Amino acid sequence: MHLFKSDREKFENELNKALSERNKGNLESAVKYFLNAYEIALGTKDPEISKRADEMLFYALFYDALVKKTAESFSKASQQCKKLDPSWQLDIGLASKPTASELCRDLEIASMIVSLPEFSIDVARRMDESLASKYEEIGSKLLAEGSRRLIIEDYLKINDPLSTIGLRFLGYSRIVRALKIEADNPANAMELYGEAAAYLQQAPAEIKKFVDSRMGKLSKTTRCWVCHREIQGEEINYIYLPASINKYIIEKYGNDSPYIINNGTIAVCRVCYTMIYNLSDALAKKYYEQAMKALQEVEARLNARISILEAKLMSLSIQAGRRYYMRD
Ligand SMILES: [Zn+2]
Repeated sequence: MHLFKSDREKFENELNKALSERNKGNLESAVKYFLNAYEIALGTKDPEISKRADEMLFYALFYDALVKKTAESFSKASQQCKKLDPSWQLDIGLASKPTASELCRDLEIASMIVSLPEFSIDVARRMDESLASKYEEIGSKLLAEGSRRLIIEDYLKINDPLSTIGLRFLGYSRIVRALKIEADNPANAMELYGEAAAYLQQAPAEIKKFVDSRMGKLSKTTRCWVCHREIQGEEINYIYLPASINKYIIEKYGNDSPYIINNGTIAVCRVCYTMIYNLSDALAKKYYEQAMKALQEVEARLNARISILEAKLMSLSIQAGRRYYMRD
């Protein structure tokens, strides 16, 4: 009987624990046991065990990446995967075992996908050109992968063909760029939204709806009611302001320009609108300051009268006290 377990026994013990934890879905715990097995493989003189060190470290990094789901963790797992024999079939709990080279590529792609922020229109408004280029670059790479899906798609909950995800990213890059130039160059923004619409055929409905609505608004050209200049882009270069519009106005001027009158509102260009807004703002501020000044004067006068009354009250109570002590 052995008093001490051999390295091989210790290694197999840790590996079995790792696999059992993994099968139960306890990935963090599995990582710990894979690292233990790795340490044993590093330290042993047993060649059968020592040659499995890289494999154990890979599994530890792979499951760590599935827990953390960060670009860095996927990239680390992919780097470690490259140290394995490319044709080696890996047990990652799937029915068909992927080869190391297949899994390496998937991990690289996963790292790229999670390096991009979750896309929404609100977030896109704050994005700059560097992110637009990143969406474009990664989108092109995914498109080149064709219609295959990630081997680890269920772990990542990314259940679309890679080319579909790629097209979506190309569309997002166009939206980021279009949002930046809507006001300065509505015609170019229209073109970019047009490209985005073509790429985004399989994108979330609210994003497709946004692109369609932007194209609709940008395509509208009218004249400003105030300055009568031609102006393109509803809600971008002109807005509608409520005004008293009767039948006479509609009949006489409603056909001056398309979209000039809209449901009791008139089109006003960005220049005229900001001019009116700034002027009314300045006027309101001036009247507010005048009212505050008048109020302060009233307050000062009232305070002065209160002080006089207080002083009178004090002298009256002193006189009353003196009379009380002088009674006897
Ligand atoms: Zn105007």
